[in-house]
Amino acid sequence: MYDYVIVGGGSAGCVLARRLTEDESVDVLVLESGEPQEEREHVRDPNGVWELLGSDIDWAFVTEPQEELHGRQIKQPRGKALGGSSVINGMAYVRGHPYDYDNWADQGNDGWSYDDMLPYFKRSEEFVADGDEEYHGTDGPMSVDRRGQTTEYTELFVEAANEAGLERNMDFNGEQQEGVGYYHSTVKDGERHSAAAAFIMPVLDRPNLTVETSAHATRLTMEGDEVTGVVYEQDGEEHTVEAEPDGEVILSAGAIQSPQLLMLSGIGPAEHLEEYGIGVEVDLPGVGRNLQDHLRWSVDYRSSEPLEPQHEADDGSRYDTALVGAFERSDPDLPAPDIQYGIAPGLGPGETEPGYTVTVLPLRPTSSGRITLQSTDPYEAPKVDPQYMTTEKDVEDVVTCVREAREIGEASALDDYREEELRPGPDVQSAEEIAEFVRETTVTGYHPVGTCKMGTDEMAVVDDRLRVYGVSGLRVVDSSIMPDVTSGNTNAPTIAIAEKGADIAKEAR
Ligand SMILES: Cc1cc2nc3c(=O)[nH]c(=O)nc-3n(C[C@H](O)[C@H](O)[C@H](O)COP(=O)(O)OP(=O)(O)OC[C@H]3O[C@@H](n4cnc5c(N)ncnc54)[C@H](O)[C@@H]3O)c2cc1C
Repeated sequence: MYDYVIVGGGSAGCVLARRLTEDESVDVLVLESGEPQEEREHVRDPNGVWELLGSDIDWAFVTEPQEELHGRQIKQPRGKALGGSSVINGMAYVRGHPYDYDNWADQGNDGWSYDDMLPYFKRSEEFVADGDEEYHGTDGPMSVDRRGQTTEYTELFVEAANEAGLERNMDFNGEQQEGVGYYHSTVKDGERHSAAAAFIMPVLDRPNLTVETSAHATRLTMEGDEVTGVVYEQDGEEHTVEAEPDGEVILSAGAIQSPQLLMLSGIGPAEHLEEYGIGVEVDLPGVGRNLQDHLRWSVDYRSSEPLEPQHEADDGSRYDTALVGAFERSDPDLPAPDIQYGIAPGLGPGETEPGYTVTVLPLRPTSSGRITLQSTDPYEAPKVDPQYMTTEKDVEDVVTCVREAREIGEASALDDYREEELRPGPDVQSAEEIAEFVRETTVTGYHPVGTCKMGTDEMAVVDDRLRVYGVSGLRVVDSSIMPDVTSGNTNAPTIAIAEKGADIAKEAR
């Protein structure tokens, strides 16, 4: 028996494990399907990301055919490791915009405004880059630093964005998010600093912390409406662990698998559970709904000569993952940026021609999809259906994004290098043609969230103390609780959610 049983040792789970075991009187168990991967070369090397996708530490989910993307099925990677997706992610440290959190609070979620969240962002952080101390912490467990050097070409990209109307901003996580500058990253001394490396590895010797890896949770156990524990499998054997009567189970299996495990345990939309012969413990229609994700694609340019990428991949292609970033409001009346850019030399992995790319993510999708079961087998992936580009607004937004990205890509600062626009290419000009290009080329921005959303309406799954409606003894603490996706990448927001979730759980004792 443990005071806390945490299911999933990913970005959120690692933070929870560290914070909850600060109290020596409580015992914490973490169940994680994957294993520690901190020693792996491509994990440590910040440029190793592309080698990890599709590897044995990627769950490698694939979406349902997306109707508005001509039936294409989109790869949806997730990390299967202690540290979860933070072990395979792009390491960009982006909190989003104050508007994101104020918007969550405005939906009836007390304690989740930006002012409430800022202390949690700071608490995690060992900030070693340049920035305003008011916004950054310096003695937290997770290192946040600049990655890569300022070079002639990175400065050319900044100049190009300046021409397109974006001011230089050296700290997207400071006073203002908007502008062009250099991403902060979760790296320490030039190596990836995953949630595992930052939060859990340094405290593994705490006597009140038990971490079971290669341990796959298959369902929650219940007595009446109380969640009492977790059934999991390890080395082919089934185990049941219980939470103390005044303890709790915390679900942190991420935006795809937290709703899956709830549904396998009888907590979810009744009709859907009955379809699979699962006994309904709680009819919670919102479980798996409200799946929001960012799209991502790029506008590519061939250049006359290589823009000195700092990284050469195993296959000989030379590129850098986006070190220069930008956030922009396509309309000055918007409350927060609605476009994110990554501007990088090289045309990406596998491409040997010289060039540069402007990658875009529309930040405020209005399409939302769902996670549903396709089997009662806990090892079988659930159906992931993001319903990409199914609203007119999202189609308009992708067109705007390409037009705005072209302003950067075509800026005179890059005249000496640019030969031609390769993709979508100069012939693609009308809104229809541009939307068509995106339908054919877009992939995920890797930010699925929202499938156990926090709120007060009938589609909410957790309340603002992250307790699952209709049961006791169970919280969800991970990226699935976001009511709306944030304006940027989702790792830093998830880590802040877990910092706050740990405080909430401590206060509840
Ligand atoms: C390729 C990629 C690139 C990305 N790039 C960035 C970036 O640059 N910056 C950024 O901010 N964000 C990025 N993200 C997103 C970010 O990493 C995630 O939003 C964040 O890690 C989600 O945290 P989480 O705790 O919700 O889930 P995860 O970190 O995915 O953790 C869930 C954990 O639960 C485990 N688990 C699942 N089911 C079970 C089960 N049944 N039993 C036991 N364990 C289970 C999983 O193995 C995993 O370890 C990226 C993501 C990917 C995949």
